[in-house]
Amino acid sequence: MARENWEQIKKTLKNTLGHNDYTTWIEPLKIYSFDNNILSFEVPTAFFGTWVVRNFKEAIQNTYSKNGIKVERVEFYVPRKEEKCSPSINAQRPNNAHFEKSEQPSMTKNKGHSFTSRTTPNTRFTFDTFVVGKPNELAHAAARRVAEGGSVTFNPLFLYGGVGLGKTHLMHAIINELRTTKTELNVLYLSAEQFMYRFVQALREKQVMGFKELFRSVDVLMVDDVQFIAGKDSTQEEFFHTFNTLVEQNKQIVISADRLPGEIKGLEDRIKSRLQCGLVVDIHPTDYELRLGILQSKVEEFQTQYAGLTVSDDVIEFLAHRITSNVRVLEGALTRLYAFESLVGREITLDLAQECLSDILRLSEKHLTIEEIQRKVAEHYNIRISDMAGSTRLRTIARPRQIAMYLCKQLTPKSLPEIGRRFGGRDHTTIMHGVRKIEELMGSGDPQLTEDIHLLRRLLRE
Ligand code: ADP
Ligand code: MG
Repeated sequence: MARENWEQIKKTLKNTLGHNDYTTWIEPLKIYSFDNNILSFEVPTAFFGTWVVRNFKEAIQNTYSKNGIKVERVEFYVPRKEEKCSPSINAQRPNNAHFEKSEQPSMTKNKGHSFTSRTTPNTRFTFDTFVVGKPNELAHAAARRVAEGGSVTFNPLFLYGGVGLGKTHLMHAIINELRTTKTELNVLYLSAEQFMYRFVQALREKQVMGFKELFRSVDVLMVDDVQFIAGKDSTQEEFFHTFNTLVEQNKQIVISADRLPGEIKGLEDRIKSRLQCGLVVDIHPTDYELRLGILQSKVEEFQTQYAGLTVSDDVIEFLAHRITSNVRVLEGALTRLYAFESLVGREITLDLAQECLSDILRLSEKHLTIEEIQRKVAEHYNIRISDMAGSTRLRTIARPRQIAMYLCKQLTPKSLPEIGRRFGGRDHTTIMHGVRKIEELMGSGDPQLTEDIHLLRRLLRE
């Protein structure tokens, strides 16, 4: 059954997971077996399988469940090199098959008691794995405070910021921390969507009292992506009551949304003002340093798990420069490189990275023009823009000119002859020489120049 539905399930997953994750991780999956509600995929490497189970297990289970099929566990199987996977549904597992068991689904559905289960937080999302930088330091500090579990100082804590900037990560970090240090506290985390789903289910099963009791007995309530309940009136009503009861009892509430309470259309005014009366902190878009830090910590994590896989520093820097949209995309790019490396068994070079990530890079690209680059560089070094095309060889002018050439080569898809034309009709070998010169200086560790270039790149990306 699961097998016949797989094509359909894949289609849905494509929509929910997005194109990148889908093509990298879901598309290559083949169903190996489905027995006793255990779904097993054939995958090329253990790395691949672990990744799929770790990251997409719930999405796969949920999608099946929406199609009326219960998947209790997701496993994978790595065939030995010489054997081909048998297509038969009842294929016996070879003795040496590598099976990885995933944990039980986080919300077990027991008839009649469907909302009494504990939420299983994502154990990867801890404070240890959260990289702190300027854009998120306040949110991080506030989350830390809540995770101490002491007296409630601000209620609610309202975290907001764009997609993929770490809101869910911070909320899970709070639960993970509280569940180890304050085991006596009853912590409940759920998305606003789950809140609504459970509420509707309680209505249907005439268990509204049980629902109310559950929520009113928690010590810490976290509701993720609250913008979801905009326009859903009875859910909002119930949310409002739950919220008030908990605040009155001085219980900590943490809420996240993708924007400020006041900016959520279709949210009742009384809820907006309630949400605003605690501490409202935003998570800003990442800057270059934070992206670099996140990538480095990811690389370390990978290396402890999959020794032998390496991605060089210049590839990491390249990703941090080029993928500025959000952390999820950044992580996605890095893991794709790892998947690629483990599939093809080749080390990732900059060229390979550009090729393998071309779709992601295209989306993240800001189209810079040669003129913009020349202007910014001229401003930065306080020279005239006409000096870019001019012929003076004075170091104070020639060096910035070379920097501009270098940045044009790096940040635009323009060819060397094209760049040469815009620098006063210079030959492409002159441009190449300039680009090499800057690379050399950066490589030899000229700190001022390197810093200037980082700064210029940032200014150009804004
Ligand atoms: P949001 O809930 O804001 O949409 P998530 O918390 O789901 O974003 O984060 C998306 C991904 O990026 C997660 O895998 C998360 O671990 C990672 N991430 C985001 N910010 C950081 C950070 N500062 N340090 C480490 N990982 C981060
Ligand atoms: Mg989230």
